[in-house]
Amino acid sequence: MSAVDALPPLREVIAAHELAARKSLGQNFLLDLNLTAKIARQAGDLSECDVLEIGPGPGGLTRGLLSEGARHVLAIEKDRRCLPALGEIADAYPGRLTVLEGDALRIDPLEYLTPPIRVAANLPYNIGTELLVRWLTPPEWPPFWQSLTLMFQREVAERIVAKPGSKAYGRLALLASWRCDAQIVMHLPPGAFTPPPKVSSAVVHLRALPEPRYPANAKRLEAVVARAFNQRRKMLRAALKGLALDIEDRLIAAGISPTDRAETVTLEQFCALTRMLEA
Ligand code: SAM
Repeated sequence: MSAVDALPPLREVIAAHELAARKSLGQNFLLDLNLTAKIARQAGDLSECDVLEIGPGPGGLTRGLLSEGARHVLAIEKDRRCLPALGEIADAYPGRLTVLEGDALRIDPLEYLTPPIRVAANLPYNIGTELLVRWLTPPEWPPFWQSLTLMFQREVAERIVAKPGSKAYGRLALLASWRCDAQIVMHLPPGAFTPPPKVSSAVVHLRALPEPRYPANAKRLEAVVARAFNQRRKMLRAALKGLALDIEDRLIAAGISPTDRAETVTLEQFCALTRMLEA
């Protein structure tokens, strides 16, 4: 019996189901159920929520989410070897865990979820940023989720919460801060995982704002930010030259000096520039 539920400890589960970690699937497992319960608590009160979990693996975080009271967990796992172990968790929490086998990039989870919805995951590092950008850039806002509680490599986590003027500041920080409150809520050393990855990790909690912080067309803002940071060492009048013939005037009208570089421009200024480009 484990610390948080009546199921066997994860080391036994992994041995029984022969779940040797595969690098190609980004498998670095969390085996300490006290730690996974702590991560689950960062997602807030889950008792009235459905939780979407990507990549449950042998189920460490899944068990944390369920033992912390999640109303229902939908877990999407690509590695079919994990399904029997996840089935045992589903049996221990009748009616509260649904497991889908497949690629999270290809499955639309919405038909399996009832709002309010939160997302919590120890993401496979190779698809983590892509999933985050998708969750931050839906056509409509507010999105389907209330909050995201996600494990990333520490460098990626720092890019998500970065402030203007720092090296980590860029597209991810701007997308996140435009429509969310984002903060790092936990740091984890490599030794917290089995096998240990080469890098440290951090959990980021993002809470969706009811509406964006400043008005701007989402697609246009994304395009302006992408272009500005593609050439982050260039002055903006050069980096954004292709966007408008009178780009210098529009930068000035948005309160930005044409000789500034993208990494010093605030979210408010990027939104103002986006509106000036529409005008
Ligand atoms: N949640 C578990 C934990 O914390 O111990 C496992 C986390 S491990 C970092 C990432 C998990 O994502 C693995 O179980 C892996 O098989 C799964 N995975 C990798 N690519 C995936 C994909 N495209 N869709 C769904 N799951 C994926």
